[in-house]
Amino acid sequence: MTDSNGTQPGTAAPAARPSRVALTTLLILVLPPLVYYIWICLEYYDGKLAAPSVDFARHLPRPTFESAWIVAGWFLFQSVLQIAAPGSGVEGTTLPDGSRLRYKMNGWFSWWFTWVCLAAAAAAGAIRPSILADQFGPLLTTMNLFAFALAIYLYWRGRTRSARGERVTGNPIYDFWLGAEKNPRIGAFDLKLFCEARPGLIGWVAIDFSFAARQYEKLGTLTAAMILICVFHFWYVADYYRHEEAILTTWDIQHENFGFMLCWGDLVWVPFTYTIQAFYLVDHSPPLSVWAIAGLALLNFAGFAIFRGTNIQKHRFRRNPENSVWGQPPRYIRTARGPLLLTSGWWGLARHMNYFGDWLMGLAWCLTTGFSSVLPYFYIVYFTILLVHRERRDHDRCAAVYGEDWRSYCRTVPWRIVPRVY
Ligand code: NDP
Repeated sequence: MTDSNGTQPGTAAPAARPSRVALTTLLILVLPPLVYYIWICLEYYDGKLAAPSVDFARHLPRPTFESAWIVAGWFLFQSVLQIAAPGSGVEGTTLPDGSRLRYKMNGWFSWWFTWVCLAAAAAAGAIRPSILADQFGPLLTTMNLFAFALAIYLYWRGRTRSARGERVTGNPIYDFWLGAEKNPRIGAFDLKLFCEARPGLIGWVAIDFSFAARQYEKLGTLTAAMILICVFHFWYVADYYRHEEAILTTWDIQHENFGFMLCWGDLVWVPFTYTIQAFYLVDHSPPLSVWAIAGLALLNFAGFAIFRGTNIQKHRFRRNPENSVWGQPPRYIRTARGPLLLTSGWWGLARHMNYFGDWLMGLAWCLTTGFSSVLPYFYIVYFTILLVHRERRDHDRCAAVYGEDWRSYCRTVPWRIVPRVY
């Protein structure tokens, strides 16, 4: 029997290729400075790309007392919600040993409860709404330190458990990057699900709102572009919690180990780069006509409809293959390994329409910032690379796991992400 990675349980994964080790080393060294570079451009160079110079080193932010207590308080608050907030218990997918982990799905409650608490604290004067914007630099450093420490802990923990069948290559850099344990838990507390879904994700929208508060302090009003970006991002994350259970059938939860890539990505990359547009808009909001607003909203919500429709269709199909798809009985391929591959509905148009919908939303977010600087378009450039790379990895894994069934699926649904284009 092989696990969902195509690996024999109880054995190591194949050794990491030198090119992959070199790439992951490069990413670990380059990505954190890249986030600092973007922050320095936004904070000190009027949101324009600037040539790095020795001056940059002077700008590197240190943690502050405020940033430390914000991070500590935030993690504590979100952890308590993860443990204690009401929610249903749901079983994840079957693990190689035949067991299934139980997850508490209380994100929807936690999301709204967080906003009620933050709004009450702001109304009572206990917190200044623009504090996250003002502390953005120190928070970035504090979160980096925390994420690196957590990733080292995860690696150490995973190595001590690897003999029990986790998928590791034995190369320290590669295993540090990808993780040495798939589902690290402390008691029933699932570290991967928590980091994927709570502090960074809600933190992203909280930082957006803080930039909106900063703009309000400066201009005495909120621009249409700032309102749009806050609504788009709030909607995107709220929708995630509305369908929280669907995360259990995603690639990250089912197949990835939990290492630096996901840990640092969830805690630093998401909250500190997905907020670039709101950061930029504080001082550079373009005037938007009614038509521009309508066009941006249309693009965002069309992308959303595709993204959500695709993800929920797979999730419902996998939970119950009897469910109709677009009003018809589903068409699918029954694989020799067992799982069914849907070939109708969104999954009949391309193999990753969910990525396409997500991409359209990202494009709408970038377009709200106008055309004066390329920096706010960082998200769509990065996201295009991420989705293309992710689709290739997913394809390779599915080809290895499903063999001829996957090839048959690819013949039935030949487009990877965009029908008739790619
Ligand atoms: P998917 O949710 O598409 O999951 C891929 C898995 O689904 C495959 O590995 C396979 O797993 C299964 N599968 C593939 N084809 C079929 C089919 N035809 N029928 C049934 N099951 C199938 O991918 P991701 O987990 O990568 O993405 C989930 C969402 O998260 C996407 O919408 C993506 O856009 C979004 N995302 C957003 C990011 C962001 O930063 N904003 C980052 C990454 C993702 P199995 O082994 O079960 O068969």
